[in-house]
Amino acid sequence: MRTNRRSLLTFCRLMAQWWHQPIDYTGYVQFFAQRAMAGAIALMIGAGIGLTAVVSVAMLLPTSSAPSQIVVVLFAALNVFWALSWCTRPWPSLRRSRMFITSADIGITMLALIDSHWLTGLFALNFFALISVYLVFFDGPKALALHSALILLTTLSFIALTGAHNGLGSDSWAVVGILGAVVPVVSTSLGVQFGIHTLRMDAIESSTDPLTGALNRRGLHLNIGDLLNQATSREDAVVVIVVDIDRFKQINDTFGHAVGDKVLVRCAQHIRETTSPTALVARVGGEEFVIIDLAPPDQAGLIAEQIRQSITTSSHQPEITASVGVTTMNRAQFLAPDADPHQVLHTAITQADRAMFEAKRHGGNTTHHT
Ligand code: GH3
Ligand code: MG
Ligand code: MG
Repeated sequence: MRTNRRSLLTFCRLMAQWWHQPIDYTGYVQFFAQRAMAGAIALMIGAGIGLTAVVSVAMLLPTSSAPSQIVVVLFAALNVFWALSWCTRPWPSLRRSRMFITSADIGITMLALIDSHWLTGLFALNFFALISVYLVFFDGPKALALHSALILLTTLSFIALTGAHNGLGSDSWAVVGILGAVVPVVSTSLGVQFGIHTLRMDAIESSTDPLTGALNRRGLHLNIGDLLNQATSREDAVVVIVVDIDRFKQINDTFGHAVGDKVLVRCAQHIRETTSPTALVARVGGEEFVIIDLAPPDQAGLIAEQIRQSITTSSHQPEITASVGVTTMNRAQFLAPDADPHQVLHTAITQADRAMFEAKRHGGNTTHHT
């Protein structure tokens, strides 16, 4: 009984978190872009909307009355516009994505209500469901709830209008039947979005280090594609830096593990403050950090040295020093058609790690450049 209560409380807490979480539209799109799926998804969305335009003209035009034929044609034209936009333009901004949803929802509602025929109703429900699927992945719970409320409202209006025409309103079983078809569409999409949100939180946690908030090795590999695609000067190289705190075990042994943890958090903070906002900062081992950024090759040594100094000149106690290794790779090595960026990254980190060990061999508290 107590377990059930705890489980229910956890569920409610997750629901509240899902509802209040700010929309991370870039994050949603990035998830697919990082896995090289965004282009294919945009094409599929475009194709789906294009097909809707064709189906609306082929199926609804012959059965519609004259005034609703105009709505069908306008609806089809709107869909052709969005289909072309999805197939030919880059992924839309959040504002444009919302314009797409709003115009689609208005179009479907008008279509369903202007000529409340069972065929139009079926078509509208299907297209509403497609938009729900889009919202599940590319918007937040509030937009999806609003869209779901519109589906229910349109359905009720549809029932009222068809009822007025042919007495359906008095047949309560027909009303229950229609609502029975619509309610699962609405509730399933909300449920799926909640589930995805929960899994996504887990996925984010699995690519970050809980202690310092820096990326972990998996996060580094997931984000390297984005870094490489950033529009910077063509001459920029990929700078890979490995930082290892000197004699860290001694800090743990002398001051305790909790102080050791604070040192790691502070170290990550110093690295973050010293590097550019685009840099990827990861904690890849107990007291070892990897930093990756794009910069002119002749700046690599300077960036690495600045990181080392930011760690060693901190006024916090206990004082620490670090050994730093740095190497540069040509961006072309990562981006070559037959290259595996993860393998190239692995090679670069191994190279920088070797440079770090060279710094250690020279007594630590120094930077070594390969
Ligand atoms: P070196 O100068 O050669 O790098 O020596 P070191 O003591 O820094 O390196 P060593 O590999 O011998 O020890 C690393 C220590 O880091 C051992 C481990 O207990 C500690 N450690 C690993 N992860 C954590 C952590 O999350 N928190 C704390 N406080 N300590 C950690
Ligand atoms: Mg160490
Ligand atoms: Mg180490």
